[in-house]
Amino acid sequence: MHNPFIKLLDIIAPPLCAYCDKVLDSPSKALCEECMQLLIPVPSPTCFHCGISARPREDELPHNGDLCDTCMHFPPLYTQANAPYFYEGLLRELLPSIKYGKQEVLMHNIAPLITPFAKERILHWHDLHHISHSILVPMPMHWFDLFRRGFSAPMILAKAIQRTLPHTTSLAPMALQKVRRTPPQASLSHAARQLNLNGVLRADATHVAERHVILVDDVLTTGASANQAAQALKKAGASHIFVLTLARTPQA
Ligand SMILES: [Zn+2]
Ligand SMILES: [Zn+2]
Repeated sequence: MHNPFIKLLDIIAPPLCAYCDKVLDSPSKALCEECMQLLIPVPSPTCFHCGISARPREDELPHNGDLCDTCMHFPPLYTQANAPYFYEGLLRELLPSIKYGKQEVLMHNIAPLITPFAKERILHWHDLHHISHSILVPMPMHWFDLFRRGFSAPMILAKAIQRTLPHTTSLAPMALQKVRRTPPQASLSHAARQLNLNGVLRADATHVAERHVILVDDVLTTGASANQAAQALKKAGASHIFVLTLARTPQA
């Protein structure tokens, strides 16, 4: 922490806000105070399964544990999915520019945005389901996309989470593989998204059988990818599957 070389580096090349380039007062921060205010936290109450904000109903006050209409009719294969922030505003601009602009250093800088939330959620899930250990599985990329992009955002997030819970979680990057390339989910309709993902993900039973899995991704939109991942993980014998993402869309 007090490495004089790092101190010298901070003077020569001070840490900058990942969004507005303002000089930061601490290298452990990703965003300046003003930009932190631009993040939109997902407010409670949320749907028990998918973590989307539950809309107040006319007849009763919503509370955590209610289900959204989608989960009520089509419950997902994962137990719970949660994200600290909405995929709106600053994150909607910043995340794609980091991922498609090959800004790996910036991805490392913003990864701590998920860690306090992830730590709270994982400890809560462990407590609730009497789990003593779980494995962190980053949502996989096809090798060609990984080669082209140069880094995996879910992997960077999963590593950051693992560092905050070194004794209760371990990283299992090979547990889930993407065996076929797919068109971007965002370009497809809801039905096409499901079809697009059929048989694309394969889980390795030697890593996941009878293990509790925390699936880590950068963004959750419809949850179709998370659901397909949960299906593959369950087929390979995984017990509980929880999903953590840095951001999620306000609407599924
Ligand atoms: Zn800023
Ligand atoms: Zn839901």
